[in-house]
This record gives sequence, structure tokens and C-alpha cells, in this order.
Amino acid sequence: MARILVIEDEADIRQVLEYNLRQAGHDVTGVERGNAGLALARERPPDLVLLDLMLPDMAGLDVCRAMKADARLRHVAVIMLTAKGSEIDRIVGLELGADDYVVKPFSPRELVARIKAVLRRQSRPTGPGEVIDVRELHLDARTQDVIVRGAAVALSTLEFRLLFFLAAQPRRVFSRERLLDEIWGSDRCITPRTVDVHIRRLREKIEAQPEDPSYIGTVRGAGYRFLGPAVEG
Ligand code: CA
Repeated sequence: MARILVIEDEADIRQVLEYNLRQAGHDVTGVERGNAGLALARERPPDLVLLDLMLPDMAGLDVCRAMKADARLRHVAVIMLTAKGSEIDRIVGLELGADDYVVKPFSPRELVARIKAVLRRQSRPTGPGEVIDVRELHLDARTQDVIVRGAAVALSTLEFRLLFFLAAQPRRVFSRERLLDEIWGSDRCITPRTVDVHIRRLREKIEAQPEDPSYIGTVRGAGYRFLGPAVEG
């Protein structure tokens, strides 16, 4: 059972979500405004937020941004509910650290499955070994702590999993499709471009020079790989 906060202004959709999530055994609270949702989340942090992107008082993306800027809410999983055709919103949302998105109209069954996958990802330790130290990068899978060049860096759960997965198997090349399967799970209906968005975001967070990365390398026509620990030729 997870504590789930639904921020959705359309009463019909909210009620369907509340009903189905309760049926699936979750503790659900529904609100129709972004501000009220944020206030509730701060008062009683949920495990996961279902976030509509078109809210009457503030944009869902701003709710997501505010959550990721709040130390207590940074690690709360976010699934965005988006309208058809809002590809830009989805990409921005994933860049902001949302864990997944669902396009309306969606089947409640599918959404319940997605929630399960996101929560499972969150609670599952990643890969072989729990701590990785490579040059000036330190990763701890138990706490999701990331320290680069002596400074702590905040990554979303998904970003952390992606980085840890690559770093745990240095120099090995992984295709975008393989990374989608490994990190997002095979039930995703997302495109390989999502991987590029997350890689770009990761580079901005951990690389001294994102345009000339020293940790996450692109292998043209093949995918990505973690560089090192040996110096790359
Ligand atoms: Ca709406």
C-alpha cells in the first residue's frame, strides 16, 4: 500500500482514479488545485503524486518544479497526466524529474500497473554492489547520494538508476532500447528519445563540461556507456 496524492481538477477523472487506486489497496487523497496539492504534500509527504499538467491555479509543471526544489518532497515519485499531443510538456516534465507520464485518456488498469512499476523501482536497490567510486564521482545506491567533485548533487530516482546502471558496468555499451527496458521497464510506451533527455539532464548535473563528458559517453549509432574507470583512449 502506498500513500498517493492525486492532483487533478477534472472531477470525473479524479473520482475514477481515487476509486481504482483505493481498490488496488492504496491510501488516496484527491485535490483539484496545484497549491492545495503542494500544501498537502508538505504536510504529509506521499509516496507518489499523480499530477495533472493543466490545473486551474498553476501549471502542473510548476507543481513538479516546486516539489523537486523541496528537500522533503524531492524523492516523491511523480507520474504526470498529460493531454494528447503535449510532447513538450512531457519532455520538460521528465527533465524536471517526473518518473513517468500517462496520456489521457488512459485505462485505470494501465495506470495502476504504472504506479506499481514506479513504486517498485523506487524501493528496489540497483545493480551489483551498493557503492561506486569512479574518479571524482561517488554513488551510493542505499541512500541515492551522489557526490561529484566534492559536492552533493540531487538526482531523481530515475536519473540515479540510469547513472548507477551504466556506472556499474563501465565501458559496456547499452542501446537506448536496452536502457528503456532496464530502467523504465518493458511496459513503457515511451520513446528512445526519453533516454536522450535523461542522459542530457544527467550530464548537466554531473559533468564539469556537459558538452565534453568524462563520465557518460555517447557511442554514435549504438547508445551510451560509462567512461572509465580507466582513462579513455
Ligand atoms: Ca486539468
